[in-house]
Amino acid sequence: MAQRTNNNRGGRAPTPPAKRTAEGLRDQLRSMHGASYGRYKSLSGNWAFDGFTLEVQKVQPDPYAPASRCEVRVDAEHAGFPSDLWSNPVRARGLAGALVRAVHRRLRDSRLSVDAGRQQVLDRSSCQIVDGTVVLRLGIDMPGRGRSIDGKQAEQALCRDLPDAVEQGLRWHTADQQRVREFVDSIEDTDALRRQLPERNLVAFVADGAILPRRSGIDDRPLQQAVPFSSPESLRTEFDLPNRGRVSGMGIAEGISLIVGGGFHGKSTLLRALEHGIYDHVPGDGRELVVCREDTVKVRAEDGRRVNRVDVSPFVSHLPTGTDTSDFSTDNASGSTSQAASIVEAVEAGSKALLLDEDTAATNLMIRDARMQELVAKDSEPLTPFLDLIRPLYDRHRVSTVMVMGGSGDYMDVADRVLMLDSYRCYEVTDRARGLASTPTGRHREADTFPDIRSRVPDPRSIDTDRPKVRSRGTDALTLGQTTVELRAVEQLVDPAQVTGIGLALVNCARSGLLDGRRTVREVLDAFDAEVTKRGVHAVDDRYVGDFAVPRRFELAAALNRLRTLRVGAFRE
Ligand code: ADP
Ligand code: MG
Repeated sequence: MAQRTNNNRGGRAPTPPAKRTAEGLRDQLRSMHGASYGRYKSLSGNWAFDGFTLEVQKVQPDPYAPASRCEVRVDAEHAGFPSDLWSNPVRARGLAGALVRAVHRRLRDSRLSVDAGRQQVLDRSSCQIVDGTVVLRLGIDMPGRGRSIDGKQAEQALCRDLPDAVEQGLRWHTADQQRVREFVDSIEDTDALRRQLPERNLVAFVADGAILPRRSGIDDRPLQQAVPFSSPESLRTEFDLPNRGRVSGMGIAEGISLIVGGGFHGKSTLLRALEHGIYDHVPGDGRELVVCREDTVKVRAEDGRRVNRVDVSPFVSHLPTGTDTSDFSTDNASGSTSQAASIVEAVEAGSKALLLDEDTAATNLMIRDARMQELVAKDSEPLTPFLDLIRPLYDRHRVSTVMVMGGSGDYMDVADRVLMLDSYRCYEVTDRARGLASTPTGRHREADTFPDIRSRVPDPRSIDTDRPKVRSRGTDALTLGQTTVELRAVEQLVDPAQVTGIGLALVNCARSGLLDGRRTVREVLDAFDAEVTKRGVHAVDDRYVGDFAVPRRFELAAALNRLRTLRVGAFRE
């Protein structure tokens, strides 16, 4: 370690390589103190610490650039987590979720950062458990004074804060063992509950005692002093979970379910909880036992969105322009056509459960009552309302719908069950609704089938495969090179890391040939899912050094569908 004296501030001669150990790193940082910032580059590569290795993967060029990136590997023996905590992929995801949150708390006041996520436990690149080895990916904002290296602060971050966080956050013997175990068990229970839904012919389950409302639109933590959920007696059912044992709550069966009730009584809150029932929530969230089928998709109106060669003919026919609505494209969809396209796309992608809320739906796509049918002849109305398609959609395609509809009673004619929210309490009012529905409204049905839709074959040239820059703007938008994809209306996205994951996955689907110009959208998504099952986060990308999470197929499809450069090459009937 003779290079200590070789402190050539800003000079040309490189520092001779240090021994690549923790001490070597410390010495090198000390020797670089005051040198020009660019010399941080010499830290790239592996450093062997006591019990873990640090790999510096990407060094920022200047103090104002995005943080540098590194990876820590704590081998299984040193980490010491009992194998039952990572014995299956779900438990391993739970363990990673617990650890990354522990490390995040430890690093709060340091220059190191880790993407821990919030209420949902996603499969994310920032922490992975591989056969008991803990792999953690961090950002480090390399400290500078002006354009020179602040070696002292760098030493604090890399030689003290980092080893402390690893020692206290990523090892079983220092961990809050009970908390970690409860976290992993809880995630496994949520997942097990969700997996049991299809065999019980349910689309969703909301446990007694669940807390549904959130603190605010920007704070996803549970509302304090909320009224806990309690199932109507008639819908109460029980599940056996691997860790908690038996739980009870409301089962929402397949078919058509309406949520009614006065304004401000908690309808949308229930629906939103169902929307997020595709995720496993952290213990204490209140939604640990609120689940829906994994293929549940929320749809809404989204005027202005792009639609690319979608078969919206079940909903839209004979437009005044004479457009062929089985091959419908627009750069600027209306409320109703955007929602029609989103429903068709969800079905195309393989969803078996749709969620809709009157608050965000296009009225003219949802309903057309008797008087309006009387006044406007069917020949001059291109739209067939969802009201007349919702039943055939289930009968023929087995796609269930749960929708909030407080403003129109017409849906009582087609509903299998009606839930009412009254002061945040849930009641079943199916019988009363049936009674009312026996009095005819005078309206006549406008459709008796939901025809098969055409499957689109996307062209791989839709996506720039030359590794375009992938960036997320919160959960609102994805930037792929020069193109921006609006995702604000894709409401089941909860984390910017998912948006990055979508961008990377799109590029990699095109690069790897999953998206090959022969597979349909659904086949591409099937192939993607199979890759994710096999390779986890690496199926999304295995070179990217930033943070991302594995996206769900439906959000991947939603982004593809909104991509303004999407080209659909062919159809398969
Ligand atoms: P609706 O869709 O019926 O008009 P919302 O679901 O938007 O009503 O709820 C209205 C308000 O009530 C929201 O501010 C929400 O946070 C609050 N809220 C919903 N459910 C509960 C509950 N279980 N306990 C306490 N407050 C709730
Ligand atoms: Mg509402």
